[in-house]
Amino acid sequence: MAEGPTAGSAYDAAALREKYLAERDKRLRRDGHSQYVDASGDFSDFVADPYVEPGFTRDALTEAVDVLVVGGGMGGLQTAAELRRRGIDDFRIVEQASDFGGTWYWNRYPGVRCDIESYIYMPLLEEVGTVPTERYSTGAEIFAHCQAIGRHFDLYDRALFQTRVEAMVWDAAADRWVVTTDRGDRIAARFVTVSQGPLAKVKLPGIPGIRDFQGRMFHSARWDYDFTGGDASGGLDKLADKRVGVIGTGATAVQIVPRVAEHAKALFVFQRTPSSIDVRANRPTDAAWLTGQPAGWQRRRMDNFLGIVSGKPVPEVLVDDRWGDLFLRFGELMHAAQASGEPVDPHAAMQQSDFEKMQAIRARVEEQIDDPDLAERLKPWYNFLCKRPLFSDEFLPAFNRPNVTLVDTDGRGVERITESGIVANGQEYPLDLIILATGFDVGAPPHKVGGYEVVGRDRQTLADRWDGDLRTLHGTQLSGFPNFHIVGGTQQGTTAFNFTHTLRMQAEHAAEIVAHCRDAGIAALEPTPDAERRWHDLLEEKHVDHEHFYEECTPGFLNNEGKFRDMPTFVGATYGGGPLEYERLLTAWRAADMQRDLVAPPAATEDSEPRRAAG
Ligand code: NDP
Repeated sequence: MAEGPTAGSAYDAAALREKYLAERDKRLRRDGHSQYVDASGDFSDFVADPYVEPGFTRDALTEAVDVLVVGGGMGGLQTAAELRRRGIDDFRIVEQASDFGGTWYWNRYPGVRCDIESYIYMPLLEEVGTVPTERYSTGAEIFAHCQAIGRHFDLYDRALFQTRVEAMVWDAAADRWVVTTDRGDRIAARFVTVSQGPLAKVKLPGIPGIRDFQGRMFHSARWDYDFTGGDASGGLDKLADKRVGVIGTGATAVQIVPRVAEHAKALFVFQRTPSSIDVRANRPTDAAWLTGQPAGWQRRRMDNFLGIVSGKPVPEVLVDDRWGDLFLRFGELMHAAQASGEPVDPHAAMQQSDFEKMQAIRARVEEQIDDPDLAERLKPWYNFLCKRPLFSDEFLPAFNRPNVTLVDTDGRGVERITESGIVANGQEYPLDLIILATGFDVGAPPHKVGGYEVVGRDRQTLADRWDGDLRTLHGTQLSGFPNFHIVGGTQQGTTAFNFTHTLRMQAEHAAEIVAHCRDAGIAALEPTPDAERRWHDLLEEKHVDHEHFYEECTPGFLNNEGKFRDMPTFVGATYGGGPLEYERLLTAWRAADMQRDLVAPPAATEDSEPRRAAG
């Protein structure tokens, strides 16, 4: 055993654990998630759309449709595609951006790429005929694919861009949702699906003085190329005489830093917690290989990846990247223990796999950073899945450049922003530009992301319904909210590293239920309270205890900034049987139990008349 926590691949487990807990304790803060500020009200300039000319107007619309799809990102696009496949063509898509793409519309920062293999991340490749040029696609290529989905399924005519939903009210007399927008539209929709995405709500750090800065400051999801020059591929030539500060070292910053480092006169990266940076190993696509794949290949590959990262045995490893090796190693350790006849402790096997993985990641920092003291400050000390794992071959080497400075705050974060720069560790760093790579409010429920009210049956709002009573069926439907579907529901639903896969499952699910209603001539359905109770019981039965794991983690959005037990979430947060089992369960439920669990809402009474439907 090694003496200290790190030494090559050998490690002292007790010392490592102690180090992890000490590093967590440094970062725990009383204000937890409330340290962040919403980009609304006085801060709404941070989320203005930089990619459109101001002043867009159009006539307000009054119409009735079968389905209103809220969101034109990966969730909304897949929902619309699934509706088209079932011959449901009478739908509208409402999207606040000026095009499809969702997160790929907004995030155009230099270096933006997807961390998940494009062959499984980019949905509908076979249908649309897109061949990603690289294993990990650029944001621009993914955005273009979203547009191609829009064209392929003929969705542009169905879309209302630059439009925000303001309210959704169930009209019980008409069995329709009355949806109003900031453009004065009034759409009576039989069904509503909401897909606003986990990365739609920009998060700003509540750093004292954030409004005092007199230079340029923007969030990474609203890049100002007029100020920096260049585009998402680089060429930021206007930074040549600028001192730039980046706050954050998460998935976004790791992609931005190498591009800015190439151009800025001086770059200061303000680090609160080092990230784990694994191998990227991007490569061009072998187009002949991809186009030669047998029909249905994408679905099989997506399932293969999910199987691997769920720790399930797979007959072969199709996606052999660094997301999976933690789980594959876990499988090896379990297999070896079983073969030796020793008692098998899956927690111990997982922890061993994790320690080994993080040792390798820390060793990589030493390999890539010239200055050993600097390398120490860039090493992450927590379990691999405590924070979103990152993959880059360029981020760490950027710190070897003479114009790049790591300002490590040893867990404290930036202290203050002044008129002229950032104060950290008691020192002021004068800057011309501050880039906030501080992330998104990942856990916010749909109505909070959209910032609108959803008023269901009996005038109950979604906010009230979920206040202390966090019930759903499958994380996608709720009693009291007929014909309302969440596509992207991970709380009480499922989650997968490959988020577009979760979206696909739930988009298919919603479209199947809409098609069922059409075929059976049913106007409205909602889950019974019994169905929700049964789902709750199953969540409890399948519950995997993550509390202990996340409480030992350094704070971040995955553990509610260190207050995991206070997370306003549901029992068993996600379905413990894993995403593949979840998908099978949805399919089986539609075949066998849907007619038991979904019922027509009670007949309208005067009391259930919508408050906002009139006028
Ligand atoms: P994150 O929430 O992951 O990171 C925010 C960063 O800001 C953290 O490093 C955080 O530090 C830091 N921070 C916050 N407040 C302060 C402060 N006061 N002082 C100093 N630092 C501070 O946001 P990202 O935008 O990087 O990523 C969000 C998500 O977006 C990812 O998890 C991923 O799901 C997605 N994404 C995906 C990509 C892909 O390739 N598929 C690419 C980019 C993003 P600390 O860690 O200490 O909290």
